[in-house]
Amino acid sequence: AKYVYDFTEGNRNLKDLLGGKGANLAEMTNLDLPVPPGFTITTDACRHYLAAGAVPDGLDREVAGHLDALEAQMGRRLGQADDPLLVSVRSGAKFSMPGMMETVLNIGLNDQSVHGLAKQAGGNERFAWDSYRRLIQMFGKTVLGIDGELFEHALDGVKGRRQDTGLDAGELQRLVETFKGIVREQTGRDFPTDPREQMRLAVMAVFDSWNAPRAILYRRQERIPADLGTAVNIMAMVFGNYGDDSGTGVAFTRDPGSGNQGIYGDYLQNAQGEDVVAGIRNTIPLEELERIDKRSYDELLGIMETLEHHYKDLCDIEFTIERGKLWMLQTRVGKRTAAAAFRIATQLVDQGLITLDEAVTRVTGDQLARLMFPRFDAGADRRKVADGVKASPGAAVGKAVFTSERAVELAAQGEDVILVRRETNPDDLAGMIAAKGILTSRGGKTSHAAVVARGMGKACVCGADTLEVVNGEHRFTAPGDVVVSEGDVISIDGTTGEVFLGEVPVVASEVVEFFEGAEPADDLVRAVDRIMRHADGVRGLGVRANADTPDDAARARRFGAQGIGLCRTEHMFLGERRQLVEDLVLASTDEDRQAALDALEPLQQADFIQIFQAMGGDPVTIRLIDPPLHEFLPDIVDLSVKVATGEATEQDRKLLTAVKRLHEQNPMLGLRGVRLGLVIPGLFAMQVRAIARAAKEVQGARPEIMIPLVAAVQELEEVREEAVKILADVGVEAQIGTMIEVPRAALTAGQIAEAAEFFSFGTNDLTQMAWGFSRDDVEAAFFSRYLDLGIFGVSPFETIDRDGVGRLIKTAVEEGRAARPDLHIGICGEHGGDPDSVHFCHEAGMDYVSCSPFRIPVARLEAARAAL
Ligand code: ADP
Ligand code: MG
Ligand code: MG
Repeated sequence: AKYVYDFTEGNRNLKDLLGGKGANLAEMTNLDLPVPPGFTITTDACRHYLAAGAVPDGLDREVAGHLDALEAQMGRRLGQADDPLLVSVRSGAKFSMPGMMETVLNIGLNDQSVHGLAKQAGGNERFAWDSYRRLIQMFGKTVLGIDGELFEHALDGVKGRRQDTGLDAGELQRLVETFKGIVREQTGRDFPTDPREQMRLAVMAVFDSWNAPRAILYRRQERIPADLGTAVNIMAMVFGNYGDDSGTGVAFTRDPGSGNQGIYGDYLQNAQGEDVVAGIRNTIPLEELERIDKRSYDELLGIMETLEHHYKDLCDIEFTIERGKLWMLQTRVGKRTAAAAFRIATQLVDQGLITLDEAVTRVTGDQLARLMFPRFDAGADRRKVADGVKASPGAAVGKAVFTSERAVELAAQGEDVILVRRETNPDDLAGMIAAKGILTSRGGKTSHAAVVARGMGKACVCGADTLEVVNGEHRFTAPGDVVVSEGDVISIDGTTGEVFLGEVPVVASEVVEFFEGAEPADDLVRAVDRIMRHADGVRGLGVRANADTPDDAARARRFGAQGIGLCRTEHMFLGERRQLVEDLVLASTDEDRQAALDALEPLQQADFIQIFQAMGGDPVTIRLIDPPLHEFLPDIVDLSVKVATGEATEQDRKLLTAVKRLHEQNPMLGLRGVRLGLVIPGLFAMQVRAIARAAKEVQGARPEIMIPLVAAVQELEEVREEAVKILADVGVEAQIGTMIEVPRAALTAGQIAEAAEFFSFGTNDLTQMAWGFSRDDVEAAFFSRYLDLGIFGVSPFETIDRDGVGRLIKTAVEEGRAARPDLHIGICGEHGGDPDSVHFCHEAGMDYVSCSPFRIPVARLEAARAAL
C-alpha cells in the first residue's frame, strides 16, 4: 500500500484519502500557486493506526523517503543545527472540523537548531526564540497532553500588560527554559530534542486527535461518520513571525455571511499560525494589507480570483507572508450562511461559472429550512445594548450563561440559553451545541465562534466590544450601567449583529412570507425563488403534505404541495364530539351504536368538504381512524378518583368500566388502526360514507382512502369490500390503499398490493416496530447511549435507517409493483421532510413524499437534488 503522497502527487478529488486540507494543498500546488512543499500521510494510515494501535508496516520508511526528498529540495535537513529545516504537522480530515484536531508548528527546533534558525534569519534572535517557545507550547499541549493553561499562565506572567510581540529575545529565551521546566515537571521527562522523534510523535498525536472528545462531539453534531480518520500533512514552515514585514491571515473570496463579492478577511502582522483565529491580538481588516505590503496584497487578490474560477465557488484561504513573500497554506470551498449559499449559487450562474442544475446542488434543504426560521420584529419595542459582528444569522432568545458547562446544564433542563463568552475555543463546543445562540465580545467573522456557529446554522454575534465579559465571572456589563447576570434573558440577532435586553418578539421570515404569496422582498428571496422553480422542474418525486385541517391544507398548497399525503382523522373525534365517542363506546345495542355514528357522520362530512375545497382538485389521502379508542375517553385515574370520592355520575361509572375494559398493556400494539374497523361495526363505514358524500359535493375532489396498520391482506380485503359498496352507493370514485407500517405488511407487500391501489409508508410505526423501540420512550431512556456507542449516527426516527427499515421499504416497493405495476407509492412518516430520507425515497423509486407544511419547500429542493 502507498501511505504517503507528495503535494505534487495528489489532487482535490482525493479527499477521502488525503483529507480536505491535503487534497486542496495538492490542488494548489498543481495550479503553481506558492505553496510550501510537503507531503500527506493518508487517512488509510490513520485508520490502520487507530484500529491496530500502531502505525502500519512500511509507513516509517515511506515517511523517511519523502522527508529526505523534502530536505534535498529545501537544501536543509530537519532540525539541522546550523541551518534547520522546520516543518508543521497538520491534521486534515475529509470534512473540515475547524479547530477540532491538532496541528504542531516549528517541528525541528531544539537547543542547537534554535541558533541555526536565528542565523538563517539574519541574526533575528527574537524570532528564533519566539518560534521555539511556540513549539514547546504547542507540542506540550497537543502531543504530551499537558494542560495548556500552564504555558499560557507562564507567558502571561512574563508579558504583563504587553502584547506577545513586546517580548524581547532574552525574555523569550527564558520563557523557553520555563516551558521546558513545565514539560519536565508534568511528564517526568525532558522535552524531546531529536527532530525526527518530534515529528513522529506529532504524527501520532494528530492521528489520536481524531478521537478527542470534542472531535467526537463535533462529528456527531455535523453527522460526520466516525470511522473516516484524519490525514496528516507535513509541510515546510514559512514564518509570519519574523517581524512587521511578515504576518498571517485568513480570507474569503466572498462574504460568507451575505454572499456579496468583495474583500473579506483578517490579517495580523508579526504572527504565526492560530494567532488570527485565537484572537490574542486585534486583527486588522484585509484591505489594510494593501497599505502595508501592496505587492503581496495584489498577488493575494489574483490568487483568490484564480481559486474562485477554479473551484467555481466561494473559497476560504489561510496565507502567510514571510518578509514580503506570499505563501498559501490552505484553501477549501468555504462554509457559508444559508442566505449566502443561495445568493452565491445564483451569482455563479449569472457569471456563467455554473449551470442552474449545479446551483440546485449547491444549496441544501437544511439551509432553506434555516431561511424559514422566524426573525425579530423590527417594529417591536426593543432595548439594544450592543452592536457586534453579524457572524451567523438567526434570531435567538434565551437566558445568558457564561460557561459551556452551565449552557449544557440549563439546556438539559429545557431552558433556552445564549452562551456569552469573551471568545470561544474548541472546548466550548458542547455549550455552543446546547445554546440557542452565541455572543462574544471579541473576534470577527473568522473567529472560532463565528466559524463554528455558521457551520451549525446557529445565531451568533461576535466582537461586541462594548460589552465587558470577564471570563470566570457570571455576568457582563454594557455601556449605560447595564449589567446582565446569569439567567437574565437576552435576544441576539445574528443577521444584524444586534444584542437586546429581554425577549424580542419574532415574525415570519421573508422567505416564508414569499412562499405565503408576498412579492419577493429582496435579492435573497429572488435567489430562493429562482432555485426553487428550477428544482421543481428537475425533480421526479412529487411532494405532498401531512395536513389535517383546511388551514394547513391551504398553507401546504401555497408552499407547493401537490396534494395531501396524510390527512389524519383523529381530531374529527375530539372536542365536542367526545360525547358521541363515549356514546359509541358505551352503546349496549346495535341501535345505540349506530345512532352515535349517525350523529358523527354529517360532522365529519363537513370537515372533509372544507379540506377538499382547500385542495382544489389535488388528491387527498385520508387515513381512517388510527389510535386506540381509550385516547378519546377520560383518563382512567381521573375517573377512578371521581368514583372513589363519590363525585362520579352514572355515566362516569359506566365509562370507568369501559376504560378498564379497553385498557391495554401495550396500546401501540393493541386495538387500533384496521383492527378498530374490524371490531367496531359501522365505524369505518361511517367515515367512508362521510368522505364519499363530501366528495360528491365538491367539484373535482380526489379522495384516496387509506387503511392504517394493516399486516395481512385479509384485513384489507374485509374493509375494502365494504368501502367499495359505499362508494358505489354514493356514486363516487376513490382509490383505496393502505399504509405500510407493520413489518409483516412490508414482507407480504405482493399479497397486499392485490387489494391496494396505493401504498404509503408510515415510517414512524415501521421504525418503531422494526427496531422494537417504543418511540415515545426511547429518546430519554437510551438513545444517547446508542449514539455514543455508534449503534446509529442519528436517530432512526429522524433519518430512515437504510439497512433495516430501508430494506423493508425496498422489498415492499419491489413486490408491490411486481403484483400491481401501477401501484402508487409514497411516504407519510416524519421522514418525508428529512433531507437524507428524501434521497432514500427517490432511490427506492417512490412516487412522492409527504411531510408537514413547513417542510414542503425543503422536500421539493431535496427531491431535485436527489434527481441531479
Ligand atoms: P486548522 O485545521 O485548525 O486550521 P492548520 O493545520 O490549518 O489547523 O494549522 C493551524 C495554523 O498554522 C494555520 O493558521 C496555518 O495556516 C498555520 N500553519 C500550518 N502549517 C504552516 C506552515 N508550514 N508554515 C506556516 N504556518 C503554518
Ligand atoms: Mg487551517
Ligand atoms: Mg402509524
